[in-house]
Amino acid sequence: MRRKLAAGNWKMNGTAAALPELQSLAGSFPDASVDVLICLPATLLHRAAETVKDTGISVGGQDCHAAESGAHTGDVSAQMLIDAGASAVILGHSERREDHGEQNDDVRAKARAAMDTGLKAIICVGESLEQREAANTLDIIGGQLSGSIPDQSTGENLIVAYEPIWAIGTGKVPTLDEIGEVHDFIRARLERRFGEGVGRSVRLLYGGSVKPGNAAEIFAVSNVDGALVGGASLKAEDFSGIIDALQKA
Ligand code: PEP
Repeated sequence: MRRKLAAGNWKMNGTAAALPELQSLAGSFPDASVDVLICLPATLLHRAAETVKDTGISVGGQDCHAAESGAHTGDVSAQMLIDAGASAVILGHSERREDHGEQNDDVRAKARAAMDTGLKAIICVGESLEQREAANTLDIIGGQLSGSIPDQSTGENLIVAYEPIWAIGTGKVPTLDEIGEVHDFIRARLERRFGEGVGRSVRLLYGGSVKPGNAAEIFAVSNVDGALVGGASLKAEDFSGIIDALQKA
């Protein structure tokens, strides 16, 4: 059985003044029956980890460098994330691929570093609107999966997030059939590459304009094991609605 996961991505939002949101989130779910993870700016990680200590909520990073340490000004290593209290890291988000030119190879190297260090890697894949309209979605996703996911992946250290780029922060969401088609495809690819046991144990998240109002129907789609949530994870009230929907799914 795959344990369901509600993961928040605060992106480049939040200072210490936002930490009470985590406290109220923890207060709304003293005994969540699903995993809850919030991926924060690196500057907040340590304080956030302290804030949610013993609450069942975990914290994660949004990127890490592939190297253990060294001359990489401004970067953060996987070990540094762990040191700050993280248990997971988002890798290959489309905003990183776009803003920093990250390629599949870069994402795979970062994922290796994360997994070697003991972090769960949430690897993001997703097509642009142009690619979807040209009926290239599955080819693009297939290439991202084979290029970005390292061989050492298991159901413990890998989570895949399907995030159509055109659905992120736009309020647009694919149809439930479109989400199901991609999630079934990802599952089949993972089973083919890693065998049924591992392939079936990796959690698959949907991301892109998930809100309390649409979460329940998305969570009912086959092979959707939870969500990666941007905007709606910033407010405890909104994210609680999504967690609630996941608990009932
Ligand atoms: C994201 O950036 O991972 C995301 C899914 O954003 P949003 O929920 O705001 O669309």
